[in-house]
Amino acid sequence: MLAHKNIKLLLNADFHEVINLSSEKTKLFGKKFKGRLIYTGQLDELFDKKFGELPYRSIDMKFETVDAQNFQSAPVVNYPNNYDFTRITEFKQIHPAKSERTTILKEFPQEYVAGQNEPYYPIFTDSAQAIYQKYFAELAQYKNITAVGRLAEYRYYDIDDVVKRALEVFNALN
Ligand SMILES: Cc1cc2nc3c(=O)[nH]c(=O)nc-3n(C[C@H](O)[C@H](O)[C@H](O)COP(=O)(O)OP(=O)(O)OC[C@H]3O[C@@H](n4cnc5c(N)ncnc54)[C@H](O)[C@@H]3O)c2cc1C
Repeated sequence: MLAHKNIKLLLNADFHEVINLSSEKTKLFGKKFKGRLIYTGQLDELFDKKFGELPYRSIDMKFETVDAQNFQSAPVVNYPNNYDFTRITEFKQIHPAKSERTTILKEFPQEYVAGQNEPYYPIFTDSAQAIYQKYFAELAQYKNITAVGRLAEYRYYDIDDVVKRALEVFNALN
């Protein structure tokens, strides 16, 4: 699909390097762009955080290799209380392999700091929603931008939800 002549693929490129938004107009590579722009990044970043930062929770993910055939009895075990980590994933339970050892991943919740770690989970407070609504209203000024996905809609989506959402948006636009 990516080899199609109409598709240009830019890796490791922030959208700011190719898109410029000014006075409700969209510019692509410095030229007025009249096509449809699908944006999947953070909504606050699209507008240079002019109404403030949308808060997120992040995670510090730490791998450990354990000297045992298996570490736990299920692929994923949640630890909602009593521990610094909130989840342990054991990959050998998902893709069984012959090995004397096993690798696990512990997830430690941490604050999201822009530029330092990844924005994983939106924080659902009234103040965060108020900021999001300001960006959402701003977005409405740009008729050719469709913001979709977990970052652009400031929502938590599972994979199946986000695929459904992408198909809904595609059908609504066609
Ligand atoms: C920690 C964690 C665990 C999860 N576990 C599960 C799970 O077990 N099961 C499940 O079903 N779902 C899980 N999910 C949810 C799943 O990851 C999401 O539903 C899915 O990735 C959302 O797809 P998306 O396209 O909206 O966003 P993403 O996959 O985040 O894609 C957004 C894209 O936008 C690009 N982008 C962002 N900002 C910019 C920018 N400034 N310039 C250019 N490009 C940019 C990114 O590079 C990325 O390619 C998990 C999510 C998280 C965060």
